[in-house]
Amino acid sequence: MTAQIIDGKQVAADMRAELKAEVSKLKEEGIVPGLGVVLVGDDPASKSYVKTKERTCEEIGIYSDDNRLPADTSQEDLIALIKKMNADPKINGILVQLPLPKGLNESEVLLAIDPEKDVDGFHPTNVGKMVVGEKTFLPCTPHGVIELLIRSGVTIEGANVVIVGRSNIVGKPLANMLMQKNATGNATVTVCHTRTRDLEHHTRGADIVIAAAGRPNTITAEMIKEGAVVIDVGVNRVEDATKKKGYRLVGDVDFEAVKEKASFITPVPGGVGPMTITMLLYNTVEAAKRSAARKTK
Ligand code: NAP
Repeated sequence: MTAQIIDGKQVAADMRAELKAEVSKLKEEGIVPGLGVVLVGDDPASKSYVKTKERTCEEIGIYSDDNRLPADTSQEDLIALIKKMNADPKINGILVQLPLPKGLNESEVLLAIDPEKDVDGFHPTNVGKMVVGEKTFLPCTPHGVIELLIRSGVTIEGANVVIVGRSNIVGKPLANMLMQKNATGNATVTVCHTRTRDLEHHTRGADIVIAAAGRPNTITAEMIKEGAVVIDVGVNRVEDATKKKGYRLVGDVDFEAVKEKASFITPVPGGVGPMTITMLLYNTVEAAKRSAARKTK
């Protein structure tokens, strides 16, 4: 079997077109969704992520308030900026680009964000709501994975899903979302990590394998059953002298071999990656709608 490639770029473009239409409707009602972006320091990868986020906001019609702070910004100044954004009615969502430079306390910063503006879905209040199945802002990368599955026509209900990775931003929330008793859940989920005994035993039994380990070739063809759906969240740099930058990006899955066995597979780049920013903007539009609904109550 040769897998159908799930085109994350296309799915993201479709969702962005839907969001753009929604934003222009909201504007007719006087609602302009706004995203406050905070970048501390000048890490090149973070700078490039933030630039893409701002460009995509513009493309969709979302107002974006950009804040670039020097790497030696104090915890107090950063928290003061977040409080200002919490109180600003033009800002519906707040994004603090992680990781923060050394010396800044990440969890304290995330806690300072108003949960109603926590479009990354990392605030413990929103994490708790997600776990108990209440409506909240879902974290962007796992939410993007679920959208990719649904929009590709993959049946999640009843599926045996194996997730490789248990981080707070990918593995854990994804496991939670997929096990929820709701229309986008109802899967039977196994979460694997570095202490898992016999990883292959688990992956070979899975209808859907989701790799989020951050290590190339974690998933090889022998580890996959014929016809499985394979989602690759991993983004890894491997040396490549033929490239101008001296490296190329690969996922956690041995794509060439696994695509001959899977029914669906995501490429890297062009799979999960484009969905992450799209889901952030989705949450920002949601936040604007919820804020408007609270005002009319
Ligand atoms: P992370 O915090 O480093 O977590 C990696 C997880 O994978 C850990 O739970 C680790 O187990 C597990 N793991 C590592 N090697 C393993 C192995 N050989 N076998 C089984 N489990 C293994 O990483 P993350 O932040 O979740 O990110 C994972 C990958 O996704 C990275 O490549 C990252 O760049 C990428 N990512 C992509 C996007 C996107 O938008 N496309 C977004 C976020 C992350 P332990 O817990 O036992 O250490």
